[in-house]
Amino acid sequence: MARVLKLIALAILVLVIAVIGILAFTFLSRSGPTDGREVGGARVVVDGFSSVAVIPLREGRVALIDAGNDATGAAILRELSRRQLGPGAVVAIFLTHGHPDHIGGVAQFPNAEVLALADEVPLIEGRTGARGPLPRLFSVNPTGITVTRALRDGEVVTLNGVAFRVYAVPGHTAGSAAYLANGLLFVGDSADAASDGTLIGAPWVFSDSQAENEASLVRLEQRLVADGANVTAIVPAHSAVIQGMAQLSAFAAASR
Ligand SMILES: [Zn+2]
Repeated sequence: MARVLKLIALAILVLVIAVIGILAFTFLSRSGPTDGREVGGARVVVDGFSSVAVIPLREGRVALIDAGNDATGAAILRELSRRQLGPGAVVAIFLTHGHPDHIGGVAQFPNAEVLALADEVPLIEGRTGARGPLPRLFSVNPTGITVTRALRDGEVVTLNGVAFRVYAVPGHTAGSAAYLANGLLFVGDSADAASDGTLIGAPWVFSDSQAENEASLVRLEQRLVADGANVTAIVPAHSAVIQGMAQLSAFAAASR
């Protein structure tokens, strides 16, 4: 009996070490986002281990890309007050996907339209669970969030003078989206900057399908080229800003 217990304890220990190892590798191989980084008129606000992009619109309004990790929205509210704005100035929150570290602060901005790809709505609203190796371990509960505008792939939403083009990039989650606005490509968790500055795909341990994520990034690159998009920078949620399109093109070339 004692021997069986020892074996079970050993198995649990090995499992815990493996999970810690995978998480450490996932985070240490990426170069983290910089709080307050200004890029193309937008500003990166770090919120715990995630980040939010604040995009100024006309007439003192702003749009957010994602809503961070913190349910109190403290980091986002601080950035708004730095701009002498209140929570009512946020007119839109474009969600890249429904993982909890991207939707935390949504409820703090009651005036905002909440926009996401139609395929992602059940995950955002907490009616279905994520399917990645780690996310699938968590229980499914209603989030209290209502997506007020379900988006289609290829759609362009224009708000107070800024156009947001929607690209479906399934793989990290079923309805993951990238948004192109003012030459900035916001990719959520679908791509990251590695510590050497190269673009890498979504982390396997948090993703529904790594293969689908990679195929989506290849297709995204082709579509951006076909659209004649002038991408000045790529902005991931968990890692540093990547200048220009060259890294995405290199990733796509290596994956084809
Ligand atoms: Zn995610």
